[in-house]
Amino acid sequence: MPDTKPRADGQRVLADLNALRAIGAYQTGVHKPTFSEPHKRSLDWLVQKLPDAGLAAGIDGIGNVFGTSAKPGLKLLAGSHLESQNYAGWLDGPLGVVYALEAARVLNADPAVRGAVEVAAWCDEEGHFGSFLGSRSYIGQVTDAEIDAARDRTSGRTMREALAEMGLAGRPRVAVEKGRHVGYLEAHIEQGDTLESGKLAIGVVTSIVGIWQYRIDFNGAQNHAGTTRMAVRKDAGLALAKFCVAIDDRFPTACGPRTVWTTGRITLDPGAPSIIPGAADMLFQIRDDDPAVIARLEALLHMMADEASAKGPCTVTVTKLRTGAPALMDLGFQDAIEAASKAMAGGRSIRMPSGAGHDAQMLATVMPAAMLFVPSIGGISHHWTENTADADIVTGAEVFVDTCRRILTG
Ligand SMILES: [Zn+2]
Repeated sequence: MPDTKPRADGQRVLADLNALRAIGAYQTGVHKPTFSEPHKRSLDWLVQKLPDAGLAAGIDGIGNVFGTSAKPGLKLLAGSHLESQNYAGWLDGPLGVVYALEAARVLNADPAVRGAVEVAAWCDEEGHFGSFLGSRSYIGQVTDAEIDAARDRTSGRTMREALAEMGLAGRPRVAVEKGRHVGYLEAHIEQGDTLESGKLAIGVVTSIVGIWQYRIDFNGAQNHAGTTRMAVRKDAGLALAKFCVAIDDRFPTACGPRTVWTTGRITLDPGAPSIIPGAADMLFQIRDDDPAVIARLEALLHMMADEASAKGPCTVTVTKLRTGAPALMDLGFQDAIEAASKAMAGGRSIRMPSGAGHDAQMLATVMPAAMLFVPSIGGISHHWTENTADADIVTGAEVFVDTCRRILTG
C-alpha cells in the first residue's frame, strides 16, 4: 500500500526560506545580526506564520519566539535561530526554523498525530551579545545581571537598549516547562563537507563536540633585535612558533578520528619590529566529543610544555580557560531520524558528531534532544556564499517532518 501520510511541502519550505532571505539580504546571503531591523522583521514574519500551523505565537523578554499548541497529547519542541553572523549565509538558522514550522503545519493538522510540534526560534545563537543567550535563558541559566552586562560585540550597544528598541523591555522570559515536551529536534546545515563528499543527504548527529580552550604562555627575555647575538637570545615568539609546529607533529599520535585543534590568536609582547619578544601567548582550542581523547591531548600538551621549558631557553606554561562537556544526542531520536532517512532519502544518511555548537546542546541538558544535518555546498558557512541545493533542502524537510511524526506517534 502506498504511503499516503501527509508529508512536507518542499515548495512551501523553499518559498519560506527565500522570504526570510529577502529580509536583510546581502549578496546571496543575509546580514541579520541579533536585534537588527532585519532580525526584528524576521521574528515578526515567524510570529505571523505560526498560527497557520495551529500555534499561538509570542516573543519573550529575551527575543525567543515560541509557537505553542493547545492540542492535547505529547509535544515535540523544534526550532533553531533566525539571526545570522555578520554578512553571512541565508540557511544557518532559518533552515531549522522553517523545517520546524513545516512539521507543525503538516502534523498539527493531522488527526493521526495525537500530539503536536511546537516551534522555537532561539535568540542570539550566533553570539552577538553573549553565548547561546536565548536557549540558555530557556533552560534557566541566564541571570538578569548577565543581560544587564551584555553588549553587541560589533556596535557596543547594550542588550537592554536593544531589547527596549525591539519593544521587549520588561517582558517575562519563557522558561522550560517540566514534562511538557517529549524532546527537542533541530535541523541545521552541516557547515562542513562530510555529507557532500560522501554523496549523502542527511547527517544524524550523535553528539555536539565539547570545546576545551587553553592559554599557552612563553616567557623569555626582551632585548634589542640588532645587538643581541642569536646564541644568547631568549625569543618567546620563536618558542611559540616551534611549539605550534610541535603540536601539529605530535597531536596526530594521540587524537581521535575527528579531533580538531586550532591556534586562534597569537600575541607577541611587546610586538615591535626591533624588539625580541620577551613574552608571547597563544589561545589554543581542542574540540572532540570524547572526554577521554581530550584528557589524553591535555596531558600531552602539559608534557610538551614541560619538555620545552626543560630544554629552554624559554619557559612554557599551559592554563586551561574553558572546559566544554560534549552534548550527547538522544539515541531513540537518532534511530527515528535514521528510519525517516530510509523512508524519505533512500537511506543516504550517516551518523556523525557536530563540530559546531548549536542550541540543541543547551536543550539536551533538560530534555532528550537530537539534530539532523543537510549538506552544505563546498562545506562553506559563516560566509554569504553558504548554500545548499534546493533538492537537498526539500529532502531534508521530508526527513525532518517524518522524524517528528515518528517521535510523536512512536
Ligand atoms: Zn546556526
